Amino acid sequence: MRARRAALVAAIVLGIALVVVIAVRTPWVVLPEPPGGYTPVDPAAGLSAEQVDRAESFATALRPASLISLLLGLFVSGVLGLTRLGARLVQAVARPVGGGRAAQALLGTAALTVLGRLVTLPLGAYAETVRHRYGLSTRSWGLWLRDVAVSTAISAAIVALAVMSLLWLVRRAPRTWWAWSAVAAAGFVVVGSFLYPVVIEPAFNTFESMPAGELRTELLAMAERSGVPVQDVLVSDASRRTTAFNAYVSGFGSTRRIVVYDTLLEELPDDEIESIVAHELGHVVHGDVLTGTLIGALGAAGAVALLGWLLVWTPLLRRAGAEGPGDPRVVPLVLFLVAVGTLVSTPAQNLVSRHVEARADLHALNLTEDPEAFLRMQRRLVENNLGDPDPPAAWQWFFGSHPTAAQRMAFAADWSKLERP
Ligand SMILES: [Zn+2]
Repeated sequence: MRARRAALVAAIVLGIALVVVIAVRTPWVVLPEPPGGYTPVDPAAGLSAEQVDRAESFATALRPASLISLLLGLFVSGVLGLTRLGARLVQAVARPVGGGRAAQALLGTAALTVLGRLVTLPLGAYAETVRHRYGLSTRSWGLWLRDVAVSTAISAAIVALAVMSLLWLVRRAPRTWWAWSAVAAAGFVVVGSFLYPVVIEPAFNTFESMPAGELRTELLAMAERSGVPVQDVLVSDASRRTTAFNAYVSGFGSTRRIVVYDTLLEELPDDEIESIVAHELGHVVHGDVLTGTLIGALGAAGAVALLGWLLVWTPLLRRAGAEGPGDPRVVPLVLFLVAVGTLVSTPAQNLVSRHVEARADLHALNLTEDPEAFLRMQRRLVENNLGDPDPPAAWQWFFGSHPTAAQRMAFAADWSKLERP
């Protein structure tokens, strides 16, 4: 029982460390109040009624499906994790290959991941039809299925690897496994964040260097002026899937590169592309990926310590039909607890994200000194990406990773009012 209490104490300490890192690293106030006060957020924000209607009806068509999908996934995961059904499934899928522990862990995890994806697949297909109807998705159904299959296979492999390591550690260190697993989970997050651009991105898109020209030169110069030189500017073949506009910066140090969607190059004037890329450079300047990785690593370690406390709690184990944390039949319960933890932490992650995004907007404005292009770009994101300029407050609080378009435009107006040296 002492090991169990130690796990709880570790979880609390890691939780406090997490709160401190978030409190210190989040830019809570991005812009000082301009003379005359902050600009009120105008939901229409210079958009035509038609643009607002279209973006809103798109969001209204998708929101219920996202919510149902989320709740359905959680419900199925809960049924499998909190009854013996999941344990039976884990045993059943391993039976044809002898039913050993490794087979249960590996095939059981894969089966649970695939099942979780299958139950929400009809809602995913519905969402894709909505994106088709609004012209946002250009994916063929064949490509959609391929994307679903590849992402399911990747998550099944990652989750199976994590579960196998967990069960192996429980066997090797029956009393302190949670501590080793917490360290492993944190390491996993760090390595994953470095591998993501190298392994996951190429599984979905191909990239080509942007041909030499004015735009490429200017983007590289902007990176230089931001103090974060980049190796290359790449164009991804995003138009195979979407008409949406986006860009990002990935990689670290010598592998750092700017990636822009090919959709941008066809549709947008250079100054708006520069505004988008300047925002992404803001993330690099402030080390947002590293901070996110640190927060993720602390969160993962804390969550594992919490598992160390929960998975030796007999009533819960009995409910799940597992004998202990080293029993592969515990996997459905673990996956359910992870799903609950992810859901509960979503508003906190998004709260931090919205502030970080506002700081990247500030960098874009400071770097380009072109609020006009920034505003045009924001309007275009509403018109083209169909971002709801003014979503319901509760939705934005829970799911909004960025400030709303209306807030971002008010932010640019505030920036213009500030006196600059
Ligand atoms: Zn951003």
